[in-house]
Amino acid sequence: MKSLWDEQQAAELGDDLLAVRVYTSRLLGREPSLVLHGGGNTSVKARVENLFGEAESVLYVKGSGWDLASIEKPGFAPVRLDVLHKMARLESLNDSDMVNAQRAAMLDPNAPNPSVEAILHAIIPFAFVDHTHADAVVTISNTADGEARLREIYGDDVLILPYIMPGFILARQVYEKTAGIDWSKLTGIVLMHHGLFTFADDGQESYENMIDLVSKAEAFLNERAPVKPATSTSASINLKQLAAMRRCVSAARGVPVLAQLDSEADAVDFSARPDVAEIACRGPLTPDHVIRTKRIAMIVGDDAEASVSAFSEDYHSYFKRNHNGALTCLDPAPRWGLWPRRGALSFGTTPGECRIIADISRHTMQAIARAEALGGWKTLPETDIFELEYWELEQAKLKKGGTVPEFQGKIALVTGAASGIGAACVESLLARGAVVAALDINAAITTRFPAASVLGIVCDMTDPDAIRRAVEACIHRFGGLDIIVSNAGVFPASNRIEQMDADLWQQSMLLNLTSHQRLMQETIPYLKLGIDPAMVIIASKNVPAPGPGAAAYSAAKAGLTQLARVAALELGGDGIRVNVLHPNAVFDTAIWTDEVLQKRAASYGLSVQDYKTNNVLKREVRSTHVAELASAMAGNVFACTTGAQLPVDGGNERVV
Ligand SMILES: [Zn+2]
Repeated sequence: MKSLWDEQQAAELGDDLLAVRVYTSRLLGREPSLVLHGGGNTSVKARVENLFGEAESVLYVKGSGWDLASIEKPGFAPVRLDVLHKMARLESLNDSDMVNAQRAAMLDPNAPNPSVEAILHAIIPFAFVDHTHADAVVTISNTADGEARLREIYGDDVLILPYIMPGFILARQVYEKTAGIDWSKLTGIVLMHHGLFTFADDGQESYENMIDLVSKAEAFLNERAPVKPATSTSASINLKQLAAMRRCVSAARGVPVLAQLDSEADAVDFSARPDVAEIACRGPLTPDHVIRTKRIAMIVGDDAEASVSAFSEDYHSYFKRNHNGALTCLDPAPRWGLWPRRGALSFGTTPGECRIIADISRHTMQAIARAEALGGWKTLPETDIFELEYWELEQAKLKKGGTVPEFQGKIALVTGAASGIGAACVESLLARGAVVAALDINAAITTRFPAASVLGIVCDMTDPDAIRRAVEACIHRFGGLDIIVSNAGVFPASNRIEQMDADLWQQSMLLNLTSHQRLMQETIPYLKLGIDPAMVIIASKNVPAPGPGAAAYSAAKAGLTQLARVAALELGGDGIRVNVLHPNAVFDTAIWTDEVLQKRAASYGLSVQDYKTNNVLKREVRSTHVAELASAMAGNVFACTTGAQLPVDGGNERVV
């Protein structure tokens, strides 16, 4: 591992200890094989002057909720050092009392909660303390002879302590085991199955010690258990099986989840190992991963739904074996899975949660493979993992305030999504927490929306193969499909029936009617496996109130409405709702070029401005109005409505 220390950047920090602390914390945070997603913590001890002009010794320690990669000065909680030292001398202390006492000892009551490892940082008698969950060190400690190997690597420079639950008892263990020790002879402390501490009075030295100790462990691994180049490519994916599996995992978790497949060669290699079911079910890389990934992976068998049930039953047994009577069982749904010869799956309620799970499982797979090459992956017994999974301080980390967005974990597909009503529908669905496959013939669709939540797909809706590929890409990326907004359309130039251009008529029928039927045909099998599935069909006011010169458009949209009504009848038994919107005069869309607008206005003998607000409410209808109603139709408000047609037109005198 390379040191990222940069003399020039460091020189700018001067002798501001906290600035140095921020700098080297970020260096550690930049390296995922040291810390992942909030793992690890750092501190610095300093003398500060209080309100009364008195000097006080303070421990600035990473506050919970901050990530080392992006930490800033306010991310460090200032805690009185003498109080932490006194706490270390207590015989026992429960962790909630510890957290309260630490908060009470803070110089700044608005600072974040100090790390649960604050007391441990306090008793290490150096200004700077760095703590990581370095992959290389933890991997070696997770082998049968792990402790002996670490002694072989580090000699007497490093104190190696057995695993113990983090929090007060860990601080207490370090306090007892280091009483009377000559600290000047130590460069670090390894906590078995957990991580590594380094320390020094100088920020650079403490950081470099970390890099040095981790590099030694990496060199050892590279020699004895080198990473093998990945070779596999993913076997074909049964997308219906994937969607069925995602629905089962959602049911077990009690909320909709996404299912994202990591089919990089190394993940496929790992999933294809003949011993995968055995080695992936021994335990996590470090115990604190349990709150993100649960203790073990789900192994996907031939019957994906049965695999989810088996995982859940196994989780219930694990809970029964380990709980003390006062705990409530958490949801029994897997967070990650291994699909033999396909790769690794992550199940999260958001793309962000999926990414965290995927990162952790990626590091876990590599650690397991290397530990196996080194003689055998050996994790902590399940009692230790359970203790951490149900530790109130860990559970608190998962509880975030605020309400859950209505469509969190749900997967939508919108056509004609690059502009106008379609783009507004994507925005509206995103704002409600959904992820979206956004289809459009315009190539700009691939970069139009945020990449983590939206899969932009270039798709010509008149090409049945392109529709099928787009739907499959959506399932492959997100794991299923729950909401369709069938919006793509074209508004042909005004053409009276007796002069009808055959191509114009055909083009309108193809895009405004036939493409919607083809989209239904491709998506219905997946909607049947979706969660509270719904289709919203964007038709037109032209259906109840057609206009002269718009035969090609009106006839196609009337056909589309009839198609939707039949779909409502055919799909109701599967719980799929199909409803229709009839927008009118939505001018912020691609259809309404200035030319079309002027022609339509003239045909009614109106100015463009009067034409825009030519409705009962005298109000201009915007694409966001249509999008908000489309989202509502896909949601709970319309839970008992199907086959309905709603206008969104400001009120039309010919229809009301
Ligand atoms: Zn730790």
